[in-house]
Amino acid sequence: MKDWAKRTIVGSGLLRMAASVRGPSAAILMYHSVLPDPSLWVDSLGEIAHSELVFRAQMELLAREFHPISLDQAIKHLRSGDDLPRRSVVITFDDGYADNYEFAMPVLNQIGVPATFYVTVDCVENKRLPWPSRLRFAFRNTKLSAWKDSQGKNWSLRSPSEREEAFLSSCDVCCQLSGKAQEDFVARLEQELYAKIPCRQASPMLSYEQMRGLQRKGHIVGSHTMTHPNMAYLKQEEAARELTESKRRLELNLEAPIPHFSYPCPALSPHWSVQTAEQSRAAGYETAVTTDNGITRTGDNPFCLKRIRPTKNVEGLRWNLESAFAGRAV
Ligand SMILES: [Zn+2]
Repeated sequence: MKDWAKRTIVGSGLLRMAASVRGPSAAILMYHSVLPDPSLWVDSLGEIAHSELVFRAQMELLAREFHPISLDQAIKHLRSGDDLPRRSVVITFDDGYADNYEFAMPVLNQIGVPATFYVTVDCVENKRLPWPSRLRFAFRNTKLSAWKDSQGKNWSLRSPSEREEAFLSSCDVCCQLSGKAQEDFVARLEQELYAKIPCRQASPMLSYEQMRGLQRKGHIVGSHTMTHPNMAYLKQEEAARELTESKRRLELNLEAPIPHFSYPCPALSPHWSVQTAEQSRAAGYETAVTTDNGITRTGDNPFCLKRIRPTKNVEGLRWNLESAFAGRAV
């Protein structure tokens, strides 16, 4: 649909009317990274970063036209069966980038929007980006024009699209690995391609001190696993370790309970299952969010909550939220 048509429909109030018929619900938004200039990081982060300016404008929109609430507030309503406040929006961040503290938190605090930050514990502790960023960087920056994968398949790396294809194929393999096996896979690939993200003094990930700073401002810290695997493709004991060990380390270092979990969604689909939902409950979590697209309603299973990806502009976000609340797929 054309932008002018979307603006006309939003302006007409038709979607709001439909939403009032659908009843109360909450939209859980999924952010990753907020940077002054995301284009500088595109070789590692890809397209997941929002510019600081757009992020601020989106938070102002939420404060003006919607009802930002914390994840804990939303869960309280889900659990009690009480209706969620109308047009409730919950802000979440995946992965645990240091920019969440540096650039997103000041905006959130200033506008008065609470947020939840799901961190990848092994990346935080080893001060390195999650593996998809490291692989993306290696394939985009290698000087090689061809590469042979571990199955013996030859890949041409001459054009950007060929590099992307080789990158995506290695993601399909890597997302099924966790822990040391995953680190060995990534390190070997960085070596074979002679391309590794340069070490900087400042960690690209949140520190525990920064996480405590987020908590002091009333934000929530949750787990996004230890090593960012696709949980649905792991052996049961490996998945259990990702759930319990990340929770244990966060609780130890933050001296607070960690009841919230977020499933990573790298490469293959699905990224969660009935079994992983049950495992997250057994590990002691109270909620788990997925990257499945949609809105949350009273009565939903708290271990597979849907989320909405925020667009990279304000109007797109307004349209997606209005449509979602009206019960339309976004
Ligand atoms: Zn993630």
